[in-house]
Amino acid sequence: VKMEGRNGLRFFSQDMQEHSLRALEIASSLKQADMDREFHMVFQPQMSIADGRFVGAEALLRWVHPVWGNVSPGEFIPIAEQSGRILEIGTWVLRHVAHQMRQWRDAGLGDFSVAVNLSALQFVQTDMVKNIIETVARAGIPSRCIEVELTETVALNNPIAAGQAISALRNAGFLVSIDDFGTGYSSMSYLKRFAVDKLKIDQSFVRELGKDADDRAIVSAIVQMAHSLGMKTIAEGVETEQQLAILKEKACDEIQGYLYSKPLPADVFEQFLRDCRQQ
Ligand code: C2E
Ligand code: CA
Ligand code: CA
Ligand code: CA
Repeated sequence: VKMEGRNGLRFFSQDMQEHSLRALEIASSLKQADMDREFHMVFQPQMSIADGRFVGAEALLRWVHPVWGNVSPGEFIPIAEQSGRILEIGTWVLRHVAHQMRQWRDAGLGDFSVAVNLSALQFVQTDMVKNIIETVARAGIPSRCIEVELTETVALNNPIAAGQAISALRNAGFLVSIDDFGTGYSSMSYLKRFAVDKLKIDQSFVRELGKDADDRAIVSAIVQMAHSLGMKTIAEGVETEQQLAILKEKACDEIQGYLYSKPLPADVFEQFLRDCRQQ
């Protein structure tokens, strides 16, 4: 920073100020947000590579601000984590998804699992597992219908508590997967410590699969390692037939991405489910 001289420094700090002003605005809007009005979930279908069938979905949060319109979760989730609001948001998300799943099951469409993202702060709450079990039981759906996605950083802040929470969730019948696998600093030690059901291969390894031999080697290694540890793999951000063909060759189990489907609003996703059943 020193090397940049006075102007560079001033420019940098002005940039930071604008950045944190926006963050403050988002934080205060989040505090006031009427979640039932402004939030909704979208559902992105996941496909089995072997037979091209629908196997599950990831639930992703959407925030439509009354003035700003759509605010990306990539922007507001980290801010909600800092302010602590993520705890209420996380509770809202799980309750909402469990309730939605109940409706689909009642309609005979709910024979799959839906993944929800858990934030780091949620994960270190002592009553987290109990809350998840209760919320899902109250909605009247089996725990195997809910998959919990964790990132590597979530668990590594407090590995002992995280290990216990992961086993407790799996013992209660929930599926557990590691999100953005391969992007953290200790992916391997994570695998040694925590038994999970599935690794989600991060988009950054998938994007250039067609061009980059290193990415092909990394994906192949992740899949082989996962399989020898008894885990499944799903590749994220799959957009092309070429990527799919390579993933199939590398024996990856499932894909999620625009090639199969974008994240869909609940009513469109429901129609997707009905279309699947007719095939
Ligand atoms: P993520 O969990 O890694 O979710 C995958 C992201 O990739 C989603 O972005 C999804 O829309 C996007 N995506 C899916 N297929 C493709 C594709 O083929 N190409 C490309 N380029 N992108 C694709 P989204 O919905 O904007 O979410 C961003 C992040 O926000 C998520 O990353 C997750 O970390 C966080 N997030 C979203 N919903 C929730 C939530 O309910 N709770 C928590 N704690 N975090 C959430
Ligand atoms: Ca995720
Ligand atoms: Ca991910
Ligand atoms: Ca991510």
